[in-house]
Amino acid sequence: MRIFTAALATETNTFSPICVDRRAFEESLYAPPGQHPETPTLCTAPITVGRKVCRDKGWTLIEGTAAWADPAGLINRKAYEGLRDEILDQLQAAMPVDAVVLGLHGAMVADGYIDPEGDFLTRIRTIIGPDILLCAELDPHSHLTEKRVAAADFFVVFKEFPHTDFVDRAEDLWRIAVDTLEGRVKPAMSVFDCRMIDVFPTSREPMRSFVDKLIEIEATDPDVLSLSVIHGFMAGDVPELGTKTIAVTNARPEKGAALARALGMELFAKRGTFMMPWMDEKQAVSLALGATSGPVVIADMWDNPGGGTAGDATVVLEELLARGATDVAIGMIWDPIAVQICMAAGEGAEIPLRFGAKSAPGTGNPVDGLVKVVRVQPSAEMHFGDSIAPFGDAAHIHLAGIDIVLSSVRVQSYDPSLFTALGIDPTQKRILVIKSTNHFYAAFSKIAAEILYCSAGSPYPNNPATNPYRRVRRDIWPIMADPHGTEAA
Ligand SMILES: [Zn+2]
Repeated sequence: MRIFTAALATETNTFSPICVDRRAFEESLYAPPGQHPETPTLCTAPITVGRKVCRDKGWTLIEGTAAWADPAGLINRKAYEGLRDEILDQLQAAMPVDAVVLGLHGAMVADGYIDPEGDFLTRIRTIIGPDILLCAELDPHSHLTEKRVAAADFFVVFKEFPHTDFVDRAEDLWRIAVDTLEGRVKPAMSVFDCRMIDVFPTSREPMRSFVDKLIEIEATDPDVLSLSVIHGFMAGDVPELGTKTIAVTNARPEKGAALARALGMELFAKRGTFMMPWMDEKQAVSLALGATSGPVVIADMWDNPGGGTAGDATVVLEELLARGATDVAIGMIWDPIAVQICMAAGEGAEIPLRFGAKSAPGTGNPVDGLVKVVRVQPSAEMHFGDSIAPFGDAAHIHLAGIDIVLSSVRVQSYDPSLFTALGIDPTQKRILVIKSTNHFYAAFSKIAAEILYCSAGSPYPNNPATNPYRRVRRDIWPIMADPHGTEAA
């Protein structure tokens, strides 16, 4: 067997001011054929898992390019077309192949392309013809368009959010591909449109039990090869945005359709109950100031660079300054210009500095103050589980009793080591302000006296009922109250 694999992925927040060009891919992950590292990344596990599967089988794996850019805004047209055509040329040169197994994300939007993955998959189908297996792993924060479903044989989607299972799902993808190529199964993909958009953390109920149920059905029903939920990505203003369920069966499309529908309607019935409750910045700062033990962690949950925002909002900082809060550390505010100024000033210098809130509306105002440059750190990094997350040159400044970490690379606050990297002991602070929606929880919960989820300003389009969409369909919840008519029925 000859199998072609490649990866092309990023997550496009169409409201983000930060655009993505080829350099953004090269800075995050760009691996030409055969040069992907042994360690898988979020959307490239089909390559590393495929190496092992094909080695064990004695099959030939032909690797194409792997490219991933950190989440941000619109993809530059030339950058998308260039990476797409590079992989298509590699596939063309590899023909004939028996299968194509891809790592995608599924939430790309490029200038001139509202559905890049649909475009990419359709072009691959044209090259390989109707009978060759084409499958991909997807992130649930994606858009499942009809074009993609028509082009591919099946998809497998991460079940967990946070995405702790991307390698397990790549193994599922390859297991089904191998069983298909060896004639044991004929995958049939059935999709149900839940006609809703929501956020579904699997670290809490009710989504925890729902995912466990999917795993249980997969383990016990021999007709079912894979079950997935496309959560949808509310920051991508595209016509087919929304939550979908996928059932991949062994040639039982009617059974798959009924199962996808039943599971989808179960999600629809629980709409609006999945997310953790949150508060605004006034309430969060009041509660934190009134707490008897610390540190209280305020998660500025929507200004999360992991969701494509700039990560430079100052709304919570402005509230802390207005309330005279001290003994506070903030990590981080993205401002490469301010970091450069601090580095030029040097450690110990006291300088007038303007920082933050330069990139987008709804993120507060740039803060002006006489700050002390406490520490500068070239090439700073923090831990994230077993891996390392760099945040570029960084500065620790002090302003009115508040220690602030300024970074020059946009990254969410994964771990308290972002503070220690700049000489701040986070356990000794009364209040810690961080920028992350969910990924921070594992590490910060170990040192936090309390965690407050705070929705401050409007850095991210977190309310689908009022987001200024131009392309999203109107007949989905919560834009429409009851698109399935379940309450009338
Ligand atoms: Zn995701």
